[in-house]
Amino acid sequence: MLTFDELSAWLKSKNIVPEKKLDHDDNSKARFFPTTGGILKTMAMENPEYTYMAIDGTKNCIMTLKEIEAGNVHHAFIEMSACVGSCIGGPVMEKFHAAPVKDYAAVARYAGKNDFIVEQPDRTETIKDFNIIEHQSRLPSEYDIKETLKQMGKLKPEDELNCGTCGYDTCREKAIAILQGKADISMCLPFLKEKAENFSDTITRNSPNGILVLNDSLEVQQVNRAALKILNLRSANDILGDLVVRVLDPGDFLKILGTGGSIHDKREYLAEYRKYVEKTIVYDREYNSIFCLLRDVTEEESEKEKREDISRQTMEIADRVVDKQMRIVQEIASLLGETAAETKIALTKLKESIKDE
Ligand code: SF4
Repeated sequence: MLTFDELSAWLKSKNIVPEKKLDHDDNSKARFFPTTGGILKTMAMENPEYTYMAIDGTKNCIMTLKEIEAGNVHHAFIEMSACVGSCIGGPVMEKFHAAPVKDYAAVARYAGKNDFIVEQPDRTETIKDFNIIEHQSRLPSEYDIKETLKQMGKLKPEDELNCGTCGYDTCREKAIAILQGKADISMCLPFLKEKAENFSDTITRNSPNGILVLNDSLEVQQVNRAALKILNLRSANDILGDLVVRVLDPGDFLKILGTGGSIHDKREYLAEYRKYVEKTIVYDREYNSIFCLLRDVTEEESEKEKREDISRQTMEIADRVVDKQMRIVQEIASLLGETAAETKIALTKLKESIKDE
């Protein structure tokens, strides 16, 4: 499918300027089709028992269909267009053409008075029987409606927002439609939003990692239990609305506000709290929010320090043992040397005295 917007953009990209020419085909009544009532204009509305009418706009169409369903409409031919003004008022029409009177006049100028000359089908081929769609659905019991409202998260009357986002005017109507099998329970934006918020609240509340949410003035907007513990705070009220500088060095937050980047797993020592943390900071520019995640790695760090201590002590002991061994070797060597020298002197003397005799 190619929209007018896309067609115009494509012609522009190829530097094609279509030549404007008037088309004078008087046999072109069907060109009224993209306007409200355009189909009726091409019809021979000759059955006096019928009412012929054109409806446009989704709201009017829905009301009309409800009237038909309720059995209040008979002997009528209704041309319905979801878009106000029909196709020429459609969602992908070029925005600069959104002028209903001008648009209709433009279509009317090019539409002729007579039908296009086309081979006409046999009249019987154009007849089709439809089943009557009107039916009276059974109204569910009050108990069932209330139970369904509960499942939709509407526990109290004030939970029933009646916002109409789901296509039903009231939450009660929507509950009835669910029970009649016409609607899906999940089709309620406020309910889905609340569910998602509760879900993310549960995750934030129970996360083992500290979570802080700041606005772009670096004021604390949210803080979870784990963050309170890391920052030695008693309750969220002790910091909510205050500048983050009260509890953390704002350097990294200011840097992120300036660059729009993020920091991941930066390990640092919070001397004030005698804790090591691994810090992740992300800036959500769209919502002007900064998310800070703090993972308490104090135990991990002290384990590491302990291991380093043990290996340093082991090295020192090994060094001392080697030193001592070396000293002993040297002492033994010098004793051996002395003994060897003394033996040599004694033997030399013995040799000389034997020779003299
Ligand atoms: S979208 Fe939800 S809150 Fe709004 S009317 Fe429908 S059921 Fe009620």
